[in-house]
Amino acid sequence: MNRLILKPGREKSLKRRHPWVFSGAVAKVQGNPGAGETVEVWSATGEFMAVAAYSPQSQIVARAWDWEHRAIDGDFFRERIERAVTCRRSLMGDAAAMRLVHGESDGLPGVVADRYGDTIVLQLTSAGAERWRDAIADALLGTGGVARIWERSDADVRALEGLPPVTAALRGPREPTRVVVTEEGLQFAIDLVHGHKTGFYLDQRDNRQQLKALANGRDVLDAFCYTGGFALNAAAGGAKSVVALDSSAEALELAKENAALNGFAQPEWVEGDVFQLLRKFRDSRRFFDLVVLDPPKFAPTAAHAEKASRAYKDINLLAFKLLRPGGLLFTFSCSGGVSADLFRKIVAGAALDAGVDAQVVAQLGAAADHPVALNFPEGEYLKGLICRVPG
Ligand code: SAH
Repeated sequence: MNRLILKPGREKSLKRRHPWVFSGAVAKVQGNPGAGETVEVWSATGEFMAVAAYSPQSQIVARAWDWEHRAIDGDFFRERIERAVTCRRSLMGDAAAMRLVHGESDGLPGVVADRYGDTIVLQLTSAGAERWRDAIADALLGTGGVARIWERSDADVRALEGLPPVTAALRGPREPTRVVVTEEGLQFAIDLVHGHKTGFYLDQRDNRQQLKALANGRDVLDAFCYTGGFALNAAAGGAKSVVALDSSAEALELAKENAALNGFAQPEWVEGDVFQLLRKFRDSRRFFDLVVLDPPKFAPTAAHAEKASRAYKDINLLAFKLLRPGGLLFTFSCSGGVSADLFRKIVAGAALDAGVDAQVVAQLGAAADHPVALNFPEGEYLKGLICRVPG
């Protein structure tokens, strides 16, 4: 059996059931494991720690599949995927669009599976997940109501594992281009081939509902609107007006289609750079009652935190300046490299510099289909705050 033997004392995180083994923690590789193959991880003192997938090219040289001595095979993936799907069913019923598998937090490192109606979009980001592609696809197919599996393994992180980007029909008909799903009464067309992530930001589901509940009668600005998730919920919630900004012409094209699908004459869609557009609104004294800031990941890792902090501070400061008295700011960070604590400090600094005494009235995170395993704090990437400025 292939084994990784750890350096003395380097078994501590595995004992806390954190699934990552860093290359610097490994003293010796026994046997000749290939990329993605199953290895046993043993401590320097001869204690069995985990069965894991080997990623020879990555700094995360192994990811634990399990803490028991067990076979990693088709049954293992069927069991894990069944467990993940049962969790979703019990929390979210039969929602048409949801994340079925959320990587490490579901005991499946490197595996993300999102369901849009009868289509599953699968993203594999580790050598171990790559090795078990067929077993994973078959297990997903067996969860019921699934007609096809479309693979979108084109995330940048694959390069760190030495894996090429893959976009392909894995099971079922070829080339799905569009699906339409209903989320809480609104229809969204999703571009599975070119859209961001697996096509849609499922993680913001609950936060879009919060916005809908607070939008009535307000002038709403949705910055970084993508295909209109927040903007259309603002319209559905009775917003007086909605302006939505994005730099991507393709995203806005689909956003407009989504508005038409739901019969909305608004929002007003503006293509451009949010950093510049917010300044333009400030300079022309155009004010709003509710602003949403849902930017892309400015800091994928902690190494980018400083530059990212400046960008977050900039847009939050501008947003505070655009709010009328009593206005609300929905502000988010999906950067793994910026902690919830740091994010709150950045927003506090922005309010201070904008000269407003804002309060946090709610703290937001990803929806329940993006659970965070307690042994894997890295899973908590999406943080949000609703801030209110005094009326
Ligand atoms: N709120 C959306 C998701 C936003 S994703 C939802 O709920 O669906 C982030 C979006 O920011 C992407 O659509 C991307 O095109 C856009 N974007 C990135 N940088 C930008 C910039 N500087 N100005 C405007 N839009 C930008």
